[in-house]
Amino acid sequence: KPVVAVVGRPNVGKSSLVNRIIGRREAVVEDVPGVTRDRVAYDASWQGREFTLVDTGGWETSVSGLAAMVAGQAEYAAQTADAILFVVDATVGITDTDEAVTRVLRSTDRPVVLAANKVDGAGAEADALELWNLGVGEPHPVSALHGRGSGDLLDALLDALPEKPPEESLEEEAGPRRVALIGRPNVGKSSLLNRMAGEDRVVVDAVAGTTRDAVDELIELGGQTWKFIDTAGIRRRFRALQGADYYATMRTGAALERAEVAVVLLDVSESLAEQDLRIIEQVVESGRALVLAFNKWDLLDEERRYYLEKEIDRQLFRVRWAPRVNISARTGRHVEKLVPAIEIGLASWDTRISTGRLNSWLKELVAATPPPVRGGKQPKILFATQADARPPHFILFTTGFLEDNYRRFIERRLREDFGFEGSPIKLSMRIRE
Ligand code: GDP
Repeated sequence: KPVVAVVGRPNVGKSSLVNRIIGRREAVVEDVPGVTRDRVAYDASWQGREFTLVDTGGWETSVSGLAAMVAGQAEYAAQTADAILFVVDATVGITDTDEAVTRVLRSTDRPVVLAANKVDGAGAEADALELWNLGVGEPHPVSALHGRGSGDLLDALLDALPEKPPEESLEEEAGPRRVALIGRPNVGKSSLLNRMAGEDRVVVDAVAGTTRDAVDELIELGGQTWKFIDTAGIRRRFRALQGADYYATMRTGAALERAEVAVVLLDVSESLAEQDLRIIEQVVESGRALVLAFNKWDLLDEERRYYLEKEIDRQLFRVRWAPRVNISARTGRHVEKLVPAIEIGLASWDTRISTGRLNSWLKELVAATPPPVRGGKQPKILFATQADARPPHFILFTTGFLEDNYRRFIERRLREDFGFEGSPIKLSMRIRE
């Protein structure tokens, strides 16, 4: 899927425009804790063409030095996206920051589509015409607020996207399985990648017809070929951007969007960090399979090991379903155990349970432990179905609201009885009055 990055200075309406493009969420109650967390990459489609939309808004308050930040954002987009949606506030006109972005965008060969936002009322069209002066082509007047013009903008965006050969999507499905190797800086990602790849076996993945940098690598492991996503982010780093949390989050989000399974690398020589937990949360939210790799095992002594176990119990409780491997990228210890763990995660992720089997299981479960009475009424679960796999998504049709506790109970029992090691599970409710 092609990637479109949305850039522009704060308050021009990037996020509103993104929401407008991805449309309203389906009206299903998702039992995903922490669902309020901002995502940065979204699946979007227009006229049947699918693409990934990367929102570079949302993390913009965390930086001082506006122009540098926005230019950095544009540079990131230019290096990773297939096309760039540049959003400018037509009511304000061209600012220095907009010009800084323009300079960055001019230096890339990525197509740029210019959105002149906040063209809400009559007479505002003239504001949009001003933006021809930026020199990045035709300004497309839109109002993210009212929705006006977004169809024309999307048409222009689709025209700008590189043509993809029709067989590419098939290839994506049938090709090697896609792994994102992620983790905060210095946990040992590049060391592990180098160990696994052994330079001579690395094949740079250059899919014909995509303009994106060759950022994925095909690596042969355990007799199979795997596609490691966005290894450029691991190997040649964006030095200037390093340490900046939001770029890391964005990059991780974009990698997850294209991956099927994430290997989250953790450093056992240090305490688990907030950032580790956030990355794990990001994986769960992206719905990808998850493997936890505890690296630098060679540095572990008895005392640290004791505390590590405590940390795992306390902080990784939410993902206790994820397979864990203890490795050392430096010595090579147990690195070969990664592949079986990844395979377990992917098998769970792919699992489909037939409706018949699911419902006879559910019937027994509910008979033994009925949902708690709520507001004097006993909610009934009428029927369950697995709506989707990758990850498994179950929908419960009920006559009333099921308490969170009860939904967690169902999820726990699903895991006990069907496995799902290494995969998140989605559980939704549809209430029929
Ligand atoms: P990245 O930022 O996640 O790619 O981390 P690097 O691969 O650059 O590793 C950061 C530092 O940790 C480097 O000094 C590595 O040599 C070191 N390192 C990586 N893996 C191990 C390991 O298994 N054991 C030890 N002792 N050091 C490691």
